[in-house]
Amino acid sequence: MDDNLIQMDDNLIQMDDNIIQMDDNIIQMDDTILHMNEEETDNIDIDNISIVSQLPTLPPRVPKRGRPKGKDKTAIGIAKRKKVSGLVPFEKLDVLTRHFEMLIWFVDKDVASIAVSGNGFISETAIENNPNNIHCAVLDSNLAIDDIKRYFDNDGWAALKQVVDIKRINPTWICKCCNEDSSNNSICCNRCLEWFHFKCVNVKTTLKKKIWFCRICKETYD
Ligand SMILES: [Zn+2]
Ligand SMILES: [Zn+2]
Repeated sequence: MDDNLIQMDDNLIQMDDNIIQMDDNIIQMDDTILHMNEEETDNIDIDNISIVSQLPTLPPRVPKRGRPKGKDKTAIGIAKRKKVSGLVPFEKLDVLTRHFEMLIWFVDKDVASIAVSGNGFISETAIENNPNNIHCAVLDSNLAIDDIKRYFDNDGWAALKQVVDIKRINPTWICKCCNEDSSNNSICCNRCLEWFHFKCVNVKTTLKKKIWFCRICKETYD
């Protein structure tokens, strides 16, 4: 019996030792966790410092997603087909409108409509042959008259070239308002390309605006 008791005591002592050992282990684990935490804290600090120093300077306005507004090409790089009409400078009109407006310097509106819609070529008989009735804009050497060549048959184009050549031999600009010579002291409307005396349209000769529209165009297109 005594032996048993001694054995039990020994066992208890052993258990106590084990518990002490476990306690030591827990303390050891605590130390390790504490140490890890310290290291982690140190790391975060270091990282934070490097992140701050590497932050890029943000632009004052963050650009919006997508293609910028007003871009004249589609996503796959094809030029946008944009219908432009109204009170805009002649050269800003969409191609067909511009061609139509050029054609009616030489032919009736009906003939011009058929031509630009691709339903027929303009022949010689449809063309105005009096140079005085042809728009003064053809006197402008910058005007690409060849742009409308595609709408004429061979004889038609030859007739047009002839009447333009005659008009250019003796160029005269006529004021659309008073029908007098407007070679001087005149202003050109950026929409209809007609010329007007400053005094006829009540415009000061010191006008700073580069683009000017006549009253007729303003009333028609604006
Ligand atoms: Zn005039
Ligand atoms: Zn005009």
